[in-house]
Amino acid sequence: MTSQTSTRALVAASAGAPFEQRTVEHRALRDDDVLIDIAFAGICHSDIHQVREEWGRAIFPMVPGHEIAGTVAAVGSAVTRHKVGDRVGIGCMVDSCGECEFCKDGEEQFCVKGAVMTYNGRGYDGEETKGGYAQRVVASERFVVRIPEGVGLDEAAPLLCAGITTWTPLRRYGVGEGSKVAVIGLGGLGHMAVKLARALGAEVTVLSRSEAKRDDAVELGATAYVATEDPAALKPLRSSFDLVVNTVSADLPIGSYLKLLKPLGTLVNVGLPPGAFEVPPGMLVGGSRSLAGSNIGGIPATQEMLDFCAEHGIGATIETISADQVDEAYDRVVAGDVRYRFVIDTSTIA
Ligand code: NAP
Ligand code: ZN
Repeated sequence: MTSQTSTRALVAASAGAPFEQRTVEHRALRDDDVLIDIAFAGICHSDIHQVREEWGRAIFPMVPGHEIAGTVAAVGSAVTRHKVGDRVGIGCMVDSCGECEFCKDGEEQFCVKGAVMTYNGRGYDGEETKGGYAQRVVASERFVVRIPEGVGLDEAAPLLCAGITTWTPLRRYGVGEGSKVAVIGLGGLGHMAVKLARALGAEVTVLSRSEAKRDDAVELGATAYVATEDPAALKPLRSSFDLVVNTVSADLPIGSYLKLLKPLGTLVNVGLPPGAFEVPPGMLVGGSRSLAGSNIGGIPATQEMLDFCAEHGIGATIETISADQVDEAYDRVVAGDVRYRFVIDTSTIA
């Protein structure tokens, strides 16, 4: 295939602008490229941070979306991993150097040359990348993963970011049978952290602001639930957890949560609000506790997570919306009113 591919997409023309339905072009397929007919695209809070320039200057016009599920529409001449008709997904990255120590290790997010992000990024050729709020997308075959039968494409889409971002620290810190895990914030990432940690055998406590999500949390697999709007509610939980996963998209007094760790425990932060943490050193030194971060996950781990989800009957808990509902959905996500991931049916992009 030599010509560019046109696709209908949802475009933010400038920072914070409402979405418009437009035609955009993708590059002509390279030898190692896969063209995907997108069926569903999840809305991640990172999309909102970027569309609203909460992380600094972004590239506009922007087609967000890095939770992509669909089927292969065409492949470049050298593609061996995927064929037309396969059920596949793309997450946060679409290319990397493939040669550095991290790429060779399957940790492409740490690529020394800089991984190419699915949108609000530039390919190594300088071309701006365009994400999943569209009917088609192009990526190097190395960044396209198989979606196993048994997980619907709609509930699979959020696994490509929310799933892998929570899977990675759960695995890194050895969560398994008997682990005591707390999850702060029950949104897109948080609800996946609960499902995955539970399926790995952990006891999971949800720390959510209010009582509103208690019943849902139990249904998702939580063994305990604490509403944190009353700061006194955290006191009985001191020194209780091996791992605390913070998924909150806004600033948080992280010190109060460090106290919840057992000695040698880790609070791993995946939330990315623009603000800073204030941590008195004694709080870490006292119990030899760690405050860590975690950035998405590599492609082999993404496939492992998808296979694990299929084996355990896990998909995201979703609310499917049409293209004209995305602006409203953004406001609902920011208000903490998503149960628990919005997924765009991309066939509704006119
Ligand atoms: P989300 O669906 O909006 O969930 C965030 C949750 O945080 C909300 O559901 C809410 O939970 C809680 N929250 C929101 N505002 C709060 C406030 N003012 N104070 C306390 N809690 C609040 O967002 P998401 O898509 O899961 O993403 C969460 C964060 O992770 C975002 O910052 C995103 O950019 C980041 N992220 C990071 C990575 C990575 O690689 N590290 C990958 C993807 C996303 P309750 O209602 O239960 O309190
Ligand atoms: Zn994301």
